[in-house]
Amino acid sequence: MTQSPDTYVSTRGDTTPTDFAEALLRGMAPDGGLYMPTAWPTLNPSAWAPGQTYAAIASAAMAPYVGNALPDGALDRALAKLVAGFDHPDVTPLVQLEDDLWLLELFHGPTAAFKDLAMQLAASLADEALAASGERLTLVTATSGDTGAAAVNAFANKARIDLIVLHPLDRVSPVQRRQMTTVDADNVLNLAVHGDFDDCQRLVKGLLSEESLRERGRFSSVNSINWARLAGQIPYYVSAVAQMAAQGETRAPTFVVPTGNFGDAFAGIAARKMGLPIAGFVAAVNQNDALARAINDGLYARKAAVETASVSMDVQAPSNFERLVYEASGRDAGTTRAVFETFARDGSVTLSAALLSALRAEVSAVSVDEATTRTEIAHAYSAYGRVVCPHTAVALHAARSQTRGTGPIVALSTAHAAKFGKDVAPVLGFDPDPPRVIRELGDRPERLTIIEGTPEAALAAVRGFRA
Ligand SMILES: *Cc1c(COP(=O)(O)O)cnc(C)c1O
Repeated sequence: MTQSPDTYVSTRGDTTPTDFAEALLRGMAPDGGLYMPTAWPTLNPSAWAPGQTYAAIASAAMAPYVGNALPDGALDRALAKLVAGFDHPDVTPLVQLEDDLWLLELFHGPTAAFKDLAMQLAASLADEALAASGERLTLVTATSGDTGAAAVNAFANKARIDLIVLHPLDRVSPVQRRQMTTVDADNVLNLAVHGDFDDCQRLVKGLLSEESLRERGRFSSVNSINWARLAGQIPYYVSAVAQMAAQGETRAPTFVVPTGNFGDAFAGIAARKMGLPIAGFVAAVNQNDALARAINDGLYARKAAVETASVSMDVQAPSNFERLVYEASGRDAGTTRAVFETFARDGSVTLSAALLSALRAEVSAVSVDEATTRTEIAHAYSAYGRVVCPHTAVALHAARSQTRGTGPIVALSTAHAAKFGKDVAPVLGFDPDPPRVIRELGDRPERLTIIEGTPEAALAAVRGFRA
């Protein structure tokens, strides 16, 4: 098979060549693995020259992955729509905090978290792919808040797609709930489940394996294992390097990424594989530290979930870790399958010395506890006058703990603090000022259906929706 960035295979060994559209609409590969491009494209250094628009940067970075799988102009139409929905001319502005310390703001989109950047693109591109093939798609996803909000906003009123989002009743923030429930779109069903996030995830898993729902057409999920979502996160790394160059900083930066499922961080690693000058990556996790322990101790082990202020990073088994293992093992599907099947069966797996040193060459990892996260929110305000969300605070703390004087460090700021006022206000003594997109939620009517946390209730709700 020819190796090419627009041809995808599974991390678990299925080498049936798959194009971008199919990888996008399927999400997961049929053998349970994750799609990976069979080669990394090379970015022309002009891609990070100062002065280009975000859309131009993103088009150059993403087109090789799309290839000919979508109608002509689909990517550029999707990018134009993405940019129009952002409240900042640079889309992802880079702000300097002090010598060699920068913050990359990823929260200027319609739901004020970084997931908008890729979700908006995935929605537009999926709609184009379906229009070309004449198919329909039903998406189902569980959310603890940010993913559901970004998905509802992105997929609302898409002609060929229905979206069903399950969130735990009364356990998402009021802002996050209203971002999902006040959108006026007949193709969106919000299910508020009596239970917690894990119950929602279990129900989604059950729905995805429900044969009788196949009659609806294509049926998949919109979680962060989708290659299209990863591809949509590559451009802001390129944009960050371009914005630094515009300010006279040309040394390769280290990126510190607040990490849950490792999708954001893996997009950065992809950018480096494409030739973007990057010195290194630090994955900053909260007390849910399975990834950090895997990389630091060589034991990847499941632990009970802890509820933290950086709730979008409360992840026990980071799904995109599989892509990192695949890449670090030299694209060895046998090794990858063995690691993740052992983990699934035993709840833990010891990583070989060779694999571990290859993983450490890609990324280091730091865990930040809750007290430190709060202190960091206070520090960001007193030192820089910045009101940051808990996820950003985790990254900032890890960034400030790096050895300094070796080059620029960029912490990713993944959400607006006003989405997480409940955790930020007690530290600062005031409520963060909401951005326009949150103010405008106002008191629009909400649409949601409350269900019991049982497979029967979930199935009945899905069957009854636009059947
Ligand atoms: C989803 C999310 C993260 C974690 O991103 P991953 O790609 O899952 O690692 C971090 N911060 C915020 C605000 C998020 O919504």
